[in-house]
Amino acid sequence: MTEIRELLLRRIRDVADYPEPGVMFKDITPLLADPAAFTALTDALAEIAERTGATKVVGLEARGFILGAPVAVRAGLGFIPVRKAGKLPGATLAQAYDLEYGSAEIEVHAEDLTAGDRVLIVDDVLATGGTAEASVQLIRRAGAEVAGLAVLMELGFLSGRVRLEPSLNGAPLEAL
Ligand code: AMP
Repeated sequence: MTEIRELLLRRIRDVADYPEPGVMFKDITPLLADPAAFTALTDALAEIAERTGATKVVGLEARGFILGAPVAVRAGLGFIPVRKAGKLPGATLAQAYDLEYGSAEIEVHAEDLTAGDRVLIVDDVLATGGTAEASVQLIRRAGAEVAGLAVLMELGFLSGRVRLEPSLNGAPLEAL
């Protein structure tokens, strides 16, 4: 295992049966509290932003904000929040998506993304891929291009990558 993977894995806490029975929650707060690990993570994600030619970083609420914002600063790019519905004050584009039970909606300020933008999407965990897939659709509907999706962790057994591959259309999905 590479040094960075070890450093990151050591600082991710598994919490069983949170927020509901049967879920193994990946808690990244120990990683955020460790400056060496948080810096290594930010650097690795910023390297992906640079390598994919991204012009903007989109962070997915809420932990994608914590990771995406320093990546944007490090890479010298703008940061765009994709929020749960009803949180952004300006004119928005919205995208609904299905959850296991019910549905959810995410939004972005319409003026934040335009044709010619290449967007790197950042989040902490890729699980079923539903949130990421909706954000890809949102970014495309805004007229921008998806440069890639970068996450700290991918829960392989939930097959998010398989679900996302058709909509990513060749853009890289990188899980550290
Ligand atoms: P999904 O849409 O199923 O890929 O879920 C992704 C979103 O839910 C991400 O924003 C994650 O922060 C969160 N998430 C899903 N599963 C977990 C987990 N086991 N531990 C921590 N966060 C999770």
